[in-house]
Order: sequence, then C-alpha cells, then structure tokens
Amino acid sequence: MSEWHWRYDHYAPAQERLREALCTLGNGYFATRGAAPEASADASHYPGTYLAGGYDRIESQAEGRLVENEDLVNLPNWLPLRLCFHDSDGEAGGWLALEDVQILDYRQNLDMRDGVLNREIRFRDGQGRTTKLCQRRLVHMSKRHLAALETELTALDWSGTVTVESALDGGVRNAGVERYADLEGRHLETLATAAVGEDGMLLKSRTCQSRLEIALAACTRVYRDGQQLAVEPSLVETDDSIAQRFRLQLEPGEPVLVEKIAALHTSRDRAISECALAARETIADAPRFDALLASHACVWHHLWQRFDLELTLADDTDDGRTAAILHLHLFHLLVTASPQVMDLDVGVPARGLHGEAYRGHIFWDELFIFPTLNLRLPEITRSLLRYRHRRLDAARAAARAADLRGAMYPWQSGSDGREESQSLHLNPRSGHWTPDETHLQRHVNAAIAYNVWQYFETTGDTEFLSFYGAEMLLEIARFWASKARHNQALQRYEITGVVGPDEFHTHYPDRGEPGLDNHAYTTVMAAWVLRRALDLPEHLPRERWEELVEQLGLTDEELAHWDTVSRKLRVCFHGDGIISQFEGFERLRELDWQAYRDKYGDIQRLDRILEAEGDTPNHYQATKQADVLMLFYLFSTEELTGLFQRLGYHFEPEMIPRNIAYYSARTSDGSTLSRVVDAWVLARSDRARSWSLFNQAIESDVADIQGGTTSEGIHLGAMAGTVDLIQRCYTGIEVRDGQLWLNPRLPEELTGLRIRLRFRQQTLGLQITQSAVQIRAISTDQDALRTRVGDSIVALRPGDCHSFAIADMPIAVGAT
Ligand code: BGC
Repeated sequence: MSEWHWRYDHYAPAQERLREALCTLGNGYFATRGAAPEASADASHYPGTYLAGGYDRIESQAEGRLVENEDLVNLPNWLPLRLCFHDSDGEAGGWLALEDVQILDYRQNLDMRDGVLNREIRFRDGQGRTTKLCQRRLVHMSKRHLAALETELTALDWSGTVTVESALDGGVRNAGVERYADLEGRHLETLATAAVGEDGMLLKSRTCQSRLEIALAACTRVYRDGQQLAVEPSLVETDDSIAQRFRLQLEPGEPVLVEKIAALHTSRDRAISECALAARETIADAPRFDALLASHACVWHHLWQRFDLELTLADDTDDGRTAAILHLHLFHLLVTASPQVMDLDVGVPARGLHGEAYRGHIFWDELFIFPTLNLRLPEITRSLLRYRHRRLDAARAAARAADLRGAMYPWQSGSDGREESQSLHLNPRSGHWTPDETHLQRHVNAAIAYNVWQYFETTGDTEFLSFYGAEMLLEIARFWASKARHNQALQRYEITGVVGPDEFHTHYPDRGEPGLDNHAYTTVMAAWVLRRALDLPEHLPRERWEELVEQLGLTDEELAHWDTVSRKLRVCFHGDGIISQFEGFERLRELDWQAYRDKYGDIQRLDRILEAEGDTPNHYQATKQADVLMLFYLFSTEELTGLFQRLGYHFEPEMIPRNIAYYSARTSDGSTLSRVVDAWVLARSDRARSWSLFNQAIESDVADIQGGTTSEGIHLGAMAGTVDLIQRCYTGIEVRDGQLWLNPRLPEELTGLRIRLRFRQQTLGLQITQSAVQIRAISTDQDALRTRVGDSIVALRPGDCHSFAIADMPIAVGAT
C-alpha cells in the first residue's frame, strides 16, 4: 500500500457518502466533497461544497417549537459533469449512472502528495460498448478561488456521439445529515445565471439570512491530441442552475479531454469589486488543468515538507497503512486549516469542511488540533485564535447576560460568536426530541486560554500575546473568578451548574436545573487559567501590561481575588485517591456494562440507548468520553502535582494509574476524541495498550467506527489528535519555559520516527529510534540551537546534527 495514496478499487454505492467525506478536497477557503461529478444528492451520494465561515441562520419547527439553527451552508455545486451516449441511430440514451452499466474496472485514488482526486472507470453499457473514463480534480491550494475537473473519455471499441453537460447547480440544500431532515435546509436563493464569453457560464446566489453572495463561474473546454475543439455549447438554464451542453464525436481508442475550470468568489472576499465580476475575471485568467495542477502540487509538496512524518514499524504486515492513514489525517487537517486561513476570519470546525454534522460549528476540538499546527506552521494557529479574539465582545456579552464578568465563550461557535448549540436534540433511536443541555460546557473557555498559552510557549510570539492572547486570557480568568462562589462552611470556592466533556452527564437526577457542581476537569482548568493570567506580567512588555490593566480596569484587589480563588477552588475525591468527575459522581449507580453490550452490541451512544429505554445516563457512573483523564492528557505529572498542591489537595503520581483504571472501566468511548486521550494517558505506563488504542483511534474515520457519522463530516480532533500522539506523546515533547523538552518512549511497535518541527522560529529535524534521538538544526536564521541533557550542553549550528542516547533524562532544546 502506498503511504501517499488512499485508494478504493471497486464501486460500492453504500460506501459512497463515506468515501465522499474522506476524499474531500479543499484549501482552507473552500472544500468540495469527493462526490462523483455525475451524481446529485440521493441515498448514496451527497455532493457538498462548503466555504470556511459560510454560515446562514434558518428557523424551523421542531416539537411544535420554533428553533433557529446556524448552518455551514452547502454552496452551489461547481462539479456536475454528465454524459449521455447516443445509439447508432443518433438517439440519445439516459444520463450515465454507474448503477446502470457493467463496471469492468474501478479505481478511485486520493493522491495526497499532490492533492488530487483521481477516478478511473472502464465500463460496458447496455449496448455492449466499452468506454473508459478517467477523471482528475483539484481545489487549488494557493489560487484559492479555483477548482478544476479534467475528464478523459475514450470509446474503446466503438464510435459514436456523446452529449456532455457541464453545470453549475444552485438548487442544492443542506440535507447531508439525516437527524436534521425535519429541519429547514434551504439556505440559498439564485440571483442570476448568465453566459460568460464563448465557453463560460455564471451562477450567482445568496444565502437567505446572512446575505452572503456567492458567485460561481466555470468554463468547459474540449481537447483532442492537444488541440482545442470548437464545440459550440448550448446553454440550458433553470430557475437555480445553468448548464452548457455540447456533442462530441468519439472514435475508438482516441481520447477526448474535457476540462472544466471553476472559480468561486463571495461578497466577503477581499480585494474585489463584486463577486460575480471577480469570478468572471478569475476564470478568464485561469490556465489549463495541467498548469493548475503543477502550481497546486508544488504548494502541496511544500506543505508536506513541513508536515510530513515518517514511521518505521516493527510489524511489516502493516504495509504502509498506518502511515497512509496519518497522511490522510494531515491531509484533511490542511484541507480545513491551510495557510489560506491566515487571511480569513475563520475558526476550525470540528467536522472539517467535509459535511454538515454539527453544522460546521467550532467547539473545544481546537485543543486537539492546534498542537499539531503549533509545531509545524504556527501561523495557522495564530489566525484561528484570532477568530476567537474577534468574538471576544460576544463572549463578554454572554457573560454579562449570565450575570457574570469577563468573557464566556460559547460551546458551539459559528459566525458571530454567539451560542449556536441547538436547544433540542433528536435521538434517532427513539425519535424523541430532548432538550440539549451540553451548551453548559464552560470548559471551552479554559481550552481557549490553554490554546493561547500553548501557541505562545511554542512560538514566543509576544506580539500576539500582547495584542490578542493576553486580553482573552485575562477576560477568561475574570469569568472563572466570577463564576466561582464562596462556600463559607467549606472555606472553598465552588463552580456549579456546568457540564464537562463527558456529555452523558448534564443533570443531577434529583435536581430540576441542569448542570453539575465542582466538576473536576473544569475546576482544575479554571485554577490553571487564573494562575496563568496572574503570571502574564512576566511575559509581556511592561508598558503593554500597564495598558491592559488600565483598559480592562484590573485592580490589585481583583488580582488578589484571582489568586485566592486559584488556591481555594473545590475538587472532590472519593475512594482511594479517585478524583470525582463531579461532586456526587460516586453516588451514581454502576451500569451493568456487559448486559448492555450483550443486548445492544455497539454501545458507544449509550445515552441514546438509555433515553430510548426511558432512562438516562445521568443515573449511572457511565461516561461518554475522557473527562477527568483530560487532566493527564493536558498536564505532565509535575504540572498537575503543582496545580493540586496550590489548591491544597494531596496528589501523588500513583493516583494517575488508579484514576485511569477507574474511568476507563466506566466509559463507552462515544466520542472519537476519547481514544486519543486514552492512548495518550497510557503511553508511559502501558505502552502496548496505548499502541492498541492508537490503532483504534486511527480507524475512527477510515473505518467509520461510529457507524455512519464520518459520511457527515470527518472528526478533525481525532485526526489531528492521532498525529499528535506520534508527534508529541510518544516523543515525550513538551514545550515549557521557552524550551522544547524531548523524552521519547516509542511504543515497541514503532521502531523509528523522522519528523520535522518548528519551534521558536527554528526548524529541527528529529530522527528517533528506541534507543537514540538525532537532532538536526535545519534553520539558517539563527546562530545556534542549544541542546541540553542534564549538565551537558551541545550547541548546534545550522546544518549540524547530534545524536543522544535515550536515557531517563529529558533533552532540552532552546535558542542560544
Ligand atoms: C463530543 C465533543 C466534541 C464534539 C465535536 C461531541 O460528540 O462529545 O467533545 O467537541 O463532538 O467534535
């Protein structure tokens, strides 16, 4: 198996929607699912094109209530290309559908190195004619408005006429997620269709509520033996689409090439006058497919130089599959968050730009995504964090509305930073609509603060911290300090009424109000945020700190209060040093896991099973995903010990395995994020189990382990998180105090790893085996890198390489 190709070698209609998601092409500005050009939305196909940040709100009736949802809009489809073969009398048959022909050969191949999707099909039609169809497509990685589809058509054993139709289809709707089928999905209205020049066409649409104008222009040209053919297309227009139709004469064994080049612009683009004009101009200037491919592939190669990782596995039966999956994960990370986003006001949707699940919203999944970007191309993280900074006022308003201070970011974020979580949730198993209380996941605020800090630690970007990061960190700290209420009797501060990452628990069984008290992960994270905020003056230029103090009205009393709260927040424990997920968790009933597994098989979504039984997971010690364990995922033992000490709680490293065992036995792993965390926290104590969990985690999307969710959009947190398991976890990389610490402990099955990292403007090449680390200083813009193991220091000049034996001591890497 090639590490650079993701292949399918037969046509499987039932798998098509999954493959469409996994073969999505994009450039961070927009993305298009890997749907067949001849397909329109039906049971097996779902063409979808999504613009980063392209949202629209719409009202629907659910359970007799008016609900409003904000969706990432499925944009007009630029891809349609249909073929219709004529019989020997010249009579046109039906439009070609793979279901209607005998497929002799079928190959679909996502070439990840070049960023191209290829499809090769040889088929025999009802009249016994054999035809070969080869298609290549791209969404250009640097010319971000351009996409292209090349179709090579060869009649192998016949001659005759084919009608080709190339269309722009604005009659699409959001209908990619079955659970949302009862909700409104029509977000677009068509404004205009027009011919453009001799061989082009244009479709202009607008979203109904957000009034985003979208212009698609395309031209379709035909070549034989490198010569363009004059095909004189006729225009076919409907209310919502425009198409060019023309006829071609095919001769046996003589390929004909049809090139469709499309340009997508919107009214939100910069440096344009009007989006339809821009689309016309972009298309007029576009070169042929091959030239586009060359410049596109060149950008992808450069990206791979920064993002690649090379593995050597002990198991030679793996045959490159693990590496191919990791490439696929990095590929989709870049399809969603490429360097193009640096110029855009967009966040990173949990399900990529690959489908409509979670409506393209942005959650805490950034916490799993940014670390990979931080050590490769941190400028992308910077831009994605600025999405949050631009929505700081919305977060302030949300805090005020809840009678709190500071900034309260939404659990689900979309266009303007207001809370986009749905109010009602459909349980597809029971058909019931139930209130969705997961928006109480205030821990998203801590994740944003943590991400700001990680970005700063990795890059040393003081300018970012000064003008964006610090303000967010301070306002989030202020939020936590106001959320924590003093309990006089206990002499502790308590955070109440929240939901943790484990979305199965939103309610105490005997309490009317939703929310849980003294949730451990939330609380420890809040303590961390407060402490970090208090440390900020050490990291900012003095005048900037003074400006912030004045602008935000920070007083000595307020800072002293933060200090007190950060030492006095309440965390609950039970049993033998078990951190209670929240106050009272241990009093919930134990679930008979075996009985549920026996009865239902797959119990990942135990919440839906229990609800359908008239029960709720709120009654049980049964979690959806890693929650307490997140603490061991985000913090080293030393950091965590420090945090608990500051809070005045006894914490010792031996408690970690006990907590892992306790909570691992009580989770259904109903989120793909969960296995990433499980694999991470076991990396040192149980390497074999960690590797096995890593192997399960990498299957999340390619094997669609949740049974149908990947077709609605990839799980970007799990994709980036699995890369990060290799990148940071097994290498023991930590960034702290301006140093990059390396302490590799590769799983036995991983015998070698080669990776290139960026740290504080330096580029390092690392080659790691079970016994040694080789560090190469690649960057040329710094004098020397200082690497330290215990007391011995080695300076590396650009191009220098040095090997260290892996001992128990971490290796520190920093600038001179
Ligand atoms: C998980 C959340 C996650 C969200 C989006 C949910 O199923 O429980 O932790 O943020 O999916 O990926």
